[in-house]
Amino acid sequence: MSSVTLHQVDKRYADDVKVVSGVDLKIDAGEFVVFVGPSGSGKTTLLRMIAGLESVSGGEIYIGELLANDVHASQRGIAMVFQSYALYPHMTVYDNMAFALRMAGTPKAEVAQRVRKSAEILQITHLLERKPKAMSGGQRQRVAIGRAIVREPQVFLFDEPLSNLDAALRQNMRVELSRLHRELGTTMIYVTHDQVEAMTLAERIVVFDAGVVQQVGTPLALYESPANLFVASFLGAPKMNLLPATLRSGDAGAAQVDLPGLGTLQVAVDATRDAAGSAVTVGVRPEHLQWVVDDAGDDANTLAVRVELIEYLGDHLLAYVAAPGVADGLCLKLPGHTTPLRSGDAARVRLPATHCLLFDSAGQAFPRCA
Ligand code: ADP
Ligand code: MG
Repeated sequence: MSSVTLHQVDKRYADDVKVVSGVDLKIDAGEFVVFVGPSGSGKTTLLRMIAGLESVSGGEIYIGELLANDVHASQRGIAMVFQSYALYPHMTVYDNMAFALRMAGTPKAEVAQRVRKSAEILQITHLLERKPKAMSGGQRQRVAIGRAIVREPQVFLFDEPLSNLDAALRQNMRVELSRLHRELGTTMIYVTHDQVEAMTLAERIVVFDAGVVQQVGTPLALYESPANLFVASFLGAPKMNLLPATLRSGDAGAAQVDLPGLGTLQVAVDATRDAAGSAVTVGVRPEHLQWVVDDAGDDANTLAVRVELIEYLGDHLLAYVAAPGVADGLCLKLPGHTTPLRSGDAARVRLPATHCLLFDSAGQAFPRCA
């Protein structure tokens, strides 16, 4: 297995628009890294540059110690799995998996041994004599992965490999891919637009927007401390609640903000770098909003709201509430056995200071207080 190092990597197409800009990234040998971002954010382009299927407009790509910019795809020690499976329809599973090895002149006995071993890992031994059309989508995707495994690459690249599968199968395959990574220990770079796949699979996530890396870190670090509004809204479902506000005052221990029409809120961040009166955005995740049931009189950091809609989801419920000045309202994630709420009810919601984030007018997060 190899590390992959990207240094100031750019991609420009003929029309001179940069679709990937200045990507700096070190992926350790054996690491499972997920590139996540909306459609069109340059993930596939970057993956194809690493694979050698697309030229590099600027910067350097290293596979291990090897400067790979001008190395042919077949010489990079990389295997890529595509969303479309790209199996040969007229060949059996065995022949599909053996194809690359045969092309490379691998001895017959070794081909057989490697195909059988990969088939066992993926539990598709019983399918080896079938053709792709006689298999389900999930089985085909396993074969596509098997075709990559037999090559024993230094690095695996996956481009949205589960997007064509139904939800239940996607979840199964996520578990399988994690297991596969543990078993093989090979470096894996996995591209997806699905934040759930990113959160569940990655050791580290790289968030892209418009060809630019927004943040790199563990799933938990990105979820808890997003660097900017883009990352904050992209990770997590339902999305983080965002409330427009004005910075009132603050010291290094906490900031006070005014929510138009709602009151004053304390947020445990250091906002001293911005002047009082600056436009800011408060962010708070649905699971951190608290329903104020007993009106014990402690109104600190609470807002008056009106219930609009309740969605019961068994173990939890989502309460959508309207609040003045908050265009999209707020979403609360509460335990499923919460006292019944009805649409139209007036209520109070608490925004705990330590769970609120604060973003400046450019969308950058203020540092949280310890
Ligand atoms: P993602 O995989 O994140 O959805 P892509 O890497 O496929 O994004 O695309 C990034 C951007 O590059 C898109 O705006 C896309 O239209 C553009 N693009 C991709 N391939 C080409 C190409 N061959 N010529 C011009 N533009 C391209
Ligand atoms: Mg893509």
